[in-house]
Amino acid sequence: MNPLGRRISRQVAVGGVPIGGGAPIVVQSMTNTDTADAEATARQVRSLARAGSELVRITVNTPEAASQVAAIRERLDALGCDVPLIGDFHYNGHRLLTQHPDCARALAKYRINPGNVGKGVKRDEQFATLIECALRWGKPVRIGVNWGSLDPELLARLMDENARRAEPLDAGEVTREAVIRSALDSARRAEEWGLPPERIVISCKMSRVQDLIAVYRSLAQRCDYALHLGLTEAGMGSKGIVASAAALGVLLQEGIGDTIRVSLTPEPGGERAREVQVAQEILQTMGLRSFAPMVSACPGCGRTTSTTFQELAGRIEGYLRAQMPAWKERYPGVEEMRVAVMGCVVNGPGESKHADIGISLPGTNEVPVAPVYVDGAKTVTLKGNRIAEEFQAIVDEYVKARFGPGAKAAPKNIKIKAAS
Ligand code: SF4
Repeated sequence: MNPLGRRISRQVAVGGVPIGGGAPIVVQSMTNTDTADAEATARQVRSLARAGSELVRITVNTPEAASQVAAIRERLDALGCDVPLIGDFHYNGHRLLTQHPDCARALAKYRINPGNVGKGVKRDEQFATLIECALRWGKPVRIGVNWGSLDPELLARLMDENARRAEPLDAGEVTREAVIRSALDSARRAEEWGLPPERIVISCKMSRVQDLIAVYRSLAQRCDYALHLGLTEAGMGSKGIVASAAALGVLLQEGIGDTIRVSLTPEPGGERAREVQVAQEILQTMGLRSFAPMVSACPGCGRTTSTTFQELAGRIEGYLRAQMPAWKERYPGVEEMRVAVMGCVVNGPGESKHADIGISLPGTNEVPVAPVYVDGAKTVTLKGNRIAEEFQAIVDEYVKARFGPGAKAAPKNIKIKAAS
């Protein structure tokens, strides 16, 4: 799966979802609704789950929010959506979990940020209360450090110690060590209070790619807790996607990471579920998991001056993704299918033959026909102005024939007629 093998952590069960211990890497996401608005939050959780989020975290920041968590769970259950909910607690989690037992029970895991548990003498007491709640309700905990809210007392202590060294480390290195120590010291305390290591997940989120890689490499060597990976404050648009893919790609390739989140800032009016799609695409393009059929498309060049193949590639990709909630029940294995949509004869037939099903559209000055390849063999040549509809129908037929009930194995050279 990857050249160095997967780091095997202790396995943590979150609801019915296993994290770590060799289980498939879990995709998670987080809502951005006001949790006190149970209807809007349940709607967004369901949408994230339908997009493929296997765990969904919700903010629990006020008594009003905490009082709605059980209602959100009930709404989801009524809709047949069993995705586990994780509560995100800062500052007042000890009070909310104690005063709202329905909330504590309805959540499948608690995320605790050690930097935001409390100050001074209250810190240990409040952290202990959070762990007691996890023990009382039998829940796992994510000890989630974020360098933007790092425990200032710990950082100051490590900076002082560093200043006394004969050869002080640079401040960045000390900060990374403080992030790691915050997580590991908190986990050790949780264990001392009785929380088993199989109920502890660790995360240390950084906003710079190299910092994240360095911190997780160190964490992977220093503990065997399940690790949640994510680049925090990754940003908007392509920058957020590229930074997350770069950081997570390196770590996943080294076998580090049991669950991931891609923290994208949505464009105004943009889809929250985009972060789920990006997380899935990182795992799938690396060959670590499969979620939806992948479409290979050429970038286009001067050999094709129309946008036909771009439109067809986009249309087929959108179609395949939209079908997946139903297809994954009906057609097991369909997520492994590879589809190619190519722009001209140069690489079109070759790439299409490597895919399960592919189409090579005509480039400029080529004969206006589009050969279709199924399992490596040319089966039909499409022409006219209904190529998109006909190719989609061929894909549908292929999916039914190869992945439907009674399909035994990948049929070779399956002959499928064009719709017209
Ligand atoms: S397949 Fe054809 S159109 Fe696409 S990039 Fe290659 S040469 Fe250009």
